[in-house]
Amino acid sequence: MRIARLACFALLFMAAPAAPAGAETAATRGTVTAFVDVNVLPMDAERVLPHRTVLVRDGRIDAVGEALAVPPGAHVVDGGGRAWLTPGLSDMHTHANSAEEMKVYLANGVTSVLHMGEASNAFMGQVRPAIHEGRRPGPHVYAAFVVDGSPRYGHFAVTNADEARWIVRLAKRNGYEFIKVYNDLSPEAFAALIEEGRAQGLPVVGHGVTRVGLRRQLDAGQLMVAHLEEFLYAFFVDPGQDPGDAAPDVQRIPAAIELLGRDRAFVTADLATYAAIARQWGKPEVVAGFLRQPEVRYLAPERRLEWAGSGYAGRRGSLDARLDFLRRFAKALADAGVPLLAGTDAPTIPGVASGFSLHEDLRALEQAGLGRYRALATATRTPGEFIHRAMPDAERFGTITPGQRADLLLLDANPLDDLDALRKPLGVMANGHWYTRKDLQGLLDEIAKRYESASPAH
Ligand SMILES: [Zn+2]
Repeated sequence: MRIARLACFALLFMAAPAAPAGAETAATRGTVTAFVDVNVLPMDAERVLPHRTVLVRDGRIDAVGEALAVPPGAHVVDGGGRAWLTPGLSDMHTHANSAEEMKVYLANGVTSVLHMGEASNAFMGQVRPAIHEGRRPGPHVYAAFVVDGSPRYGHFAVTNADEARWIVRLAKRNGYEFIKVYNDLSPEAFAALIEEGRAQGLPVVGHGVTRVGLRRQLDAGQLMVAHLEEFLYAFFVDPGQDPGDAAPDVQRIPAAIELLGRDRAFVTADLATYAAIARQWGKPEVVAGFLRQPEVRYLAPERRLEWAGSGYAGRRGSLDARLDFLRRFAKALADAGVPLLAGTDAPTIPGVASGFSLHEDLRALEQAGLGRYRALATATRTPGEFIHRAMPDAERFGTITPGQRADLLLLDANPLDDLDALRKPLGVMANGHWYTRKDLQGLLDEIAKRYESASPAH
């Protein structure tokens, strides 16, 4: 049954002109794509609009309706009433830096990412512009410039307020949209980043800053906290405490929620990432297992070496109590209406592969008690709201609504029945291009072939 249905779609899609797999594609100005007889999950509310037509013009959603006329010359993608159209997915925490990694995101249905630091010059200067201009396949990329107060993690150290202001202007001139704060900043530098960031339109996001404290950071206007576990150290455990010593105190959850509600801040709910860290904590054999996973075929050789050298594998104790706590914490935040963003920190954390990890995160959030709709919102509607808060003039995305960027996934099952439906889309629309499942598989195959000779022996 399932196979017959897929074969039917394959025929339909061969008829539609599509971007050639793996090729640099020209921008598609003036083109109209019509998704006909599709079941739409607009993600503005928990609902499915059956048998709709969605028109896309110049890469934007033009109209959604029941009996819309299809303009002559449009590419028609006919869902035959058995395909589901959702907004493209977002991963709001990546460190991926290559054109190949961007293709892997797209193949996984990810149409927006937030680059959270150490973007290479080539990535910012060549790869990202080429994607945004429709010349290369990949997600839309928003980028944060990392600012820290010490060279401890290999970052440039900002020591005073003047330097901090200069860094914000430098980041803006070089196309960054956010400032990402790191642990070792001084209170003076942090305050100057917030102030200059506000003046320049670059909101501050990122970690807890030890000498400022998350409470004061959020009250000062930090827009987003980049990891759930930042709250552990700010509210629930002594930073110096061994992870196995004592379970975090759930009684303090309401205080954290109160603070987040007061400041309307977003939180990146990287549950799958923390779970991957917890799994490999003290267990080199788990890291060896990560390197045998099928998605490692798409991981560059230098990334495989990073994974193989996992510092977590040599640690002692267990993170399991903290992981359990973070699951409860994520659910409590969602119940209280705190806006959660899916984000995975790929691919620098061993076991967390670009693109694939987003599906793990959605699954982890579902299982933490959010359910499928609220989990899916963390990768669609809420990232769209986050970018809109940060950049009110930027193109909107995240729901299927006329006027929004046409970041779209076509699926062969309803993800509100099973989130796994998102893993292998029938097609993805991004930057005005329509990529069929075959195109997307072609992108992956090409990458796997390139990296083949670099596979470690097992
Ligand atoms: Zn990160």
